[in-house]
Amino acid sequence: MTVSQCKGSFVTFEGIDACGKSTQIRLLHEFLRKNEVDAICLRDPGTTAISESIRRILLDNKNSAMSSWTELLLYEAARAQLVEEEIRPALAKGAIVLCDRFYDSTTAYQGYGRGLDLDIVRRANEIGSVGLTPDLTFFLDIDPRLAVARKREIGIAEDRLEAEGVAFQEKVRHGFRELQKAEPQRVSFIDGHRAIETIQLEIQSIMMPVIS
Ligand code: ADP
Repeated sequence: MTVSQCKGSFVTFEGIDACGKSTQIRLLHEFLRKNEVDAICLRDPGTTAISESIRRILLDNKNSAMSSWTELLLYEAARAQLVEEEIRPALAKGAIVLCDRFYDSTTAYQGYGRGLDLDIVRRANEIGSVGLTPDLTFFLDIDPRLAVARKREIGIAEDRLEAEGVAFQEKVRHGFRELQKAEPQRVSFIDGHRAIETIQLEIQSIMMPVIS
C-alpha cells in the first residue's frame, strides 16, 4: 500500500498494563514509516522532560502514601505539558501522533479503579488534556490474569500502580469497557488475547481512513 497524503491525527492506545499497547504502537509506527507517513510515538505520562519527572513520582513504589487526588492531579499535570510541548505542535504539522495512554486511562484507573467521582475526573481530564480529544482510540482488552502471566514471563518489577493486584486491574478493565461502550465511534474494542500479528492487521485496517 502506498500512502501519499495524510492529515494530522491523534491516535491513542489504552488498556491495562501488558495488554500489548507498546508492541502494537511500535508495529504500527513501522508500518506508517514504511508507507512514508509522518508519525511519532509518545507516552502519557512522559515523553517531555517535565512529564517524565512527574511519571517517576507517580510510579515510584516508595510513594505509597500518595492520595488518589494527588495521583489524579499529577497525571493531569504531566498530560498538559505533553499536549502543549509535543502533541499540538506535531498535529499542527500534519503528523499522526500515536500515544501510549491518554485521558481514558485516568478515567479507568483513578475513576473506576480508585473510585474517584467520575464527573470530577472528567472535568480534571478536560484541564489536563487542554481540551484535546483523541480522533481514534484502540482499547486492547485482556484478562488481568494474562497480564500477570506476561509480566512474570518478562520478569520486570511492578511499579506502584501495577502492584495493586488483579482485583484492582479488574475494576480498571471494567472502566475501559464502559468507556468503549459509551463512545464506540471513537474507541475501537480490540481483543488483545490473539496473536500480535492478527491484532496489528486489525489495527491497520481501522487506521486506513485516518491515513488515506
Ligand atoms: P503494554 O505496553 O500494554 O504494557 P507490551 O506491549 O509491553 O504491553 O506487552 C507486554 C508483554 O506482552 C511483552 O513481553 C510483549 O511481547 C507481550 N505481548 C504483547 N502482545 C502480545 C500478544 N498479543 N500475545 C502474546 N504476548 C504479547
